[in-house]
Amino acid sequence: MINLEKLVRPNIWALKPYSCARDEFKGEASVYLDANENPYNGPYNRYPDPRQWALKDKIAKIKDVRRTQIMLGNGSDEPIDLVIRIFCEPGVDNVVGMEPSYGMYVVSADINNVAYKRVPLNDDFSIDPERMLKATDEHTKIIWCCSPNNPSGNLISKDALRKILTEFQGIVVIDEAYADFSSEPSWLNELDQYPNLVVLQTFSKAWGMASVRCGMAFASETIIDLFNKVKYPYNINILTQEFVSKQLDQTKLKQSWVNSILEQRPILAEELKKIAIVEKVYPSDANFILIKVKNANITYKFLVNEGIIVRNRNNILLCNDCLRITVGTPEENKLLIESLKRI
Ligand SMILES: *Cc1c(COP(=O)(O)O)cnc(C)c1O
Repeated sequence: MINLEKLVRPNIWALKPYSCARDEFKGEASVYLDANENPYNGPYNRYPDPRQWALKDKIAKIKDVRRTQIMLGNGSDEPIDLVIRIFCEPGVDNVVGMEPSYGMYVVSADINNVAYKRVPLNDDFSIDPERMLKATDEHTKIIWCCSPNNPSGNLISKDALRKILTEFQGIVVIDEAYADFSSEPSWLNELDQYPNLVVLQTFSKAWGMASVRCGMAFASETIIDLFNKVKYPYNINILTQEFVSKQLDQTKLKQSWVNSILEQRPILAEELKKIAIVEKVYPSDANFILIKVKNANITYKFLVNEGIIVRNRNNILLCNDCLRITVGTPEENKLLIESLKRI
């Protein structure tokens, strides 16, 4: 069993959070004179629900979790930062993360002056759970995992993650930003089994709302309470709450986008394999494909000149001469392939 009180920074455990007007009075009334709001310009004159219950009720239904197991943030960026600020004493504690993986984990750790220990994946981007566990010490509070992983695109073995969740006496974050594109069930199903598990998901990818900035963290009620203590009281504005809520009624539309991307993914992969300068096309469980080419820098610049932007991952561990390509519309994918044939 993990001892949450021992894991959390003492000042956060003891923190008395800001109590806003909307926290103090819950329910319906006809006259609101408690929050110094302007009585005109409704509905935007009112502070939004700090816990976003209407939106969380919908998410809870779709994801089959309790609404009290959800924290919403300004993109996944917010819970990534908050989980570090809740658990890691700057200059003292550290975190462990698989490499290569999503860049924000390192940036957030750096901003908070928390050491980030990078543990290389195997050459095929699979994880070595022993190596991850061995990298931890008595000051390691968090292990970062990302599945399907960015930039490699592969799912991380469930058995390996289960071993890490069981043997590590700290928080394990599993970032599932690309879960909608993968064939495996989500770790959300196992939240109640692992009190140290934090699952991240987002509306930025499959739901097509990257510009709206709304990310989700799922965890035990105790961990979600800590997020709620530390987050800005009104961190999700009413425009975002209402817009995301409206989009959640369009699950069929979202599924049609995901289906189209999943249909295009193997077609794009096959076409890429036929290109002379492409040396390897990595398997993908996400909405992007990592490829190794003869010279990534030259290929990247050539594509920029063609008006096509891909992600150059050349300077990243295990990704020498690799480009990360998002699966686009059939037309966009065709334009990319036609350009690559001309190089
Ligand atoms: C794109 C992505 C996210 C999403 O970040 P947002 O801040 O929610 O837009 C999170 N994690 C990974 C690994 C990603 O690639």
